[in-house]
Amino acid sequence: MISESLVHLGEKKSGIRELFEYGLRQAAVVGKENVYDYSLGNPSVPAPEEVASIIRELLEGDSLALHGYTPAGGAKEAQQAVADDLTQRSGDTIRPENIFFTCGAAPALVAVLRALAVEDAEFVAIAPYFPEYQVFVSYNGGKFVEVPPDTKNFQVDIAAVERALTPHTQAVLVNSPNNPSGVIYSRETLTALGALLERKSAEYGHPIYIIADEPYRELVYDNAEVPYIPGIYRDTVICYSYSKSLSMPGERIGYVCIPDSVTDSAKLHAAVAGASRAFGHVCAPSMMQRVIARATGLRPDLEAYDKNRHTLYNALTEMGYECVKPEGAFYMMVKAPGGDAHAFSERAKKENLLLVPADSFGCPGFFRISTCVDPAMIQRSLPAFRRVLQD
Ligand code: PLP
Repeated sequence: MISESLVHLGEKKSGIRELFEYGLRQAAVVGKENVYDYSLGNPSVPAPEEVASIIRELLEGDSLALHGYTPAGGAKEAQQAVADDLTQRSGDTIRPENIFFTCGAAPALVAVLRALAVEDAEFVAIAPYFPEYQVFVSYNGGKFVEVPPDTKNFQVDIAAVERALTPHTQAVLVNSPNNPSGVIYSRETLTALGALLERKSAEYGHPIYIIADEPYRELVYDNAEVPYIPGIYRDTVICYSYSKSLSMPGERIGYVCIPDSVTDSAKLHAAVAGASRAFGHVCAPSMMQRVIARATGLRPDLEAYDKNRHTLYNALTEMGYECVKPEGAFYMMVKAPGGDAHAFSERAKKENLLLVPADSFGCPGFFRISTCVDPAMIQRSLPAFRRVLQD
């Protein structure tokens, strides 16, 4: 016997993947340069040059140490480097023991969700949200609860969050800078959310944690502030990844950070280690941990993303599309003309313009475009954006 629900999960592709694969097939027919693929969030800026030199240096050292197992939570030097970096940037005190290295943000999120998935546990996600949250929650023992989007500016509708909370709420997933809107939750938004969660935690007699999913923390424009959420709400656990900030999504490296201020922090850390062990985590890639130990200060070259952001925002709004200008990450949400994002995306496909309907992000009536693309493709695609609007 084989688990039917997992067969279904394995066979069912996400809408984003389906569109991406459609694009590859279409490229074989009409030529790669005539397909305008805005589907995937794959970094289009290379890793900082220093990453390659660090790897070269590491390869000249002790091979056994470099490629060997590390403790489950990570190599001491890597935990220390991350702790120092977070301490310096946040003003909080983060110790190496607060860091648990993972194979990216996805397993970090799963570990925290499983650690908190007690009986009847509910996890709240604020739309628009990363679609995999639904999978991570519902296949790891939790109930997925969705808060409808504030489509005016993609901040958080606090009253709607309040309506979603119950005595079973274990955590609220907070992703800022946000995929898919590119919006950064303001200090004001996060303060209001923190105040609400404090009040409801007291009412229910247990903490409601914030799970801060922050793979885009450093991808911000115009020096926008990304507030340090544990400084606003103490029961915040951070899930981080270097997939985007160092442009190395295939290297699978990230971490969970549980600051000491979090209620039951040591116990939660143990449960995250236990959850990871239960799904077969041994340690995060050893060489990448050593890279991170020397690379916490490195930042991606944001200029290319920023240029794409401006080009697309300016061109699309000029044509008459409506969108909220992103302040971070490399995505943009655009209102689907006519209101039906699926129908619009199908029309766009006829122009070989691949736009992801945002229904799976909990935000019907919008489509997401990834702005981490070749700037030349943007220029080639603009007439298609115009044509599909006039259809
Ligand atoms: N969270 C968000 C909001 C994302 O956009 C992604 C990847 O696109 C992830 C988590 C997973 O990232 P990782 O590659 O580190 O697993």
